Amino acid sequence: MDLGIAGKWALVCGASKGLGFGCAQALVREGVHVVINARNAEVLEQAAIQLRADGAQWASAGSQNQRAPQVIAVAADITTAQGREAVFAAAGGPGRDFDIVVTNAGGPPPGDFRDWDRDAWIKAVDANMLTPIELIKATVDGMASRGFGRIVNITSSAVKAPIDVLGLSNGARSGLTGFVAGVARSKLAAQGVTINNLLPGKFDTDRLATTLGVAATKTGKSIEDVRTAQQAAIPAGRFGTTQEFGAICAFLCSVHAAYMTGQNVLADGGAFPGA
Ligand code: NAP
Repeated sequence: MDLGIAGKWALVCGASKGLGFGCAQALVREGVHVVINARNAEVLEQAAIQLRADGAQWASAGSQNQRAPQVIAVAADITTAQGREAVFAAAGGPGRDFDIVVTNAGGPPPGDFRDWDRDAWIKAVDANMLTPIELIKATVDGMASRGFGRIVNITSSAVKAPIDVLGLSNGARSGLTGFVAGVARSKLAAQGVTINNLLPGKFDTDRLATTLGVAATKTGKSIEDVRTAQQAAIPAGRFGTTQEFGAICAFLCSVHAAYMTGQNVLADGGAFPGA
């Protein structure tokens, strides 16, 4: 299926690896130009090299003379005002003419809520609530004026099924979820702009590997045993892949998803037990 978004411009945050990279790759494979962002410049550049190769392949596979999508890498901390300014400046000015924005950054650390002070909460809210809101604010009016826009916020299945040790994430992401539920149904909905949240369950990324390692240390089991037990608890019997996640993201960004807005789309192999 042609997603109808070749030639559009996307900003994909937290895109040097993991779920953000999966989203950037799926978009480039549809001919979308991308500005990718993460903090570590070296890892980000490796990702850009891979994406340029993917884009060249897309261009050569087409029947017409298609130009490969551009890939611009901006190393910056997206959770800071300076980081967002750097991304927009490198990409051509405030708000640029982004047609698609995928918001993403690292999740807050797990722990006991008794240990979290105000600074810990402000950091979590900054990264996982206020940063996506700032990115939405900077881009949606331009999208509306052009009659097309797609925002996809990478949040977490913990929004639907909160996990006790992830209190910082539960709280900050729930704030974003409430905000999105309102703004997605504003005038923007009739102006071709959709805003949705994409909720990962367990996907095989570096972040998941870290949490498996922590669980193994805590329980005295091997990482492989923890991995097997966690996969067995998912109806699909496995973790998701970043390619699968990216494909869902690209569909939400497509012309075909124009009538989907304000949704929380869960991708978790059936792990959430509700209807
Ligand atoms: P990952 O593999 O660790 O990748 C995170 C990406 O975000 C990297 O490119 C990282 O690069 C970048 N990043 C982190 N902090 C950033 C910042 N402040 N500014 C710019 N880029 C930043 O993680 P992931 O598994 O893809 O997870 C992505 C998001 O989904 C996280 O918020 C995570 O909590 C959430 N999530 C993941 C899962 C899962 O199963 N994987 C499940 C539920 C929720 P740098 O470190 O170089 O900046």
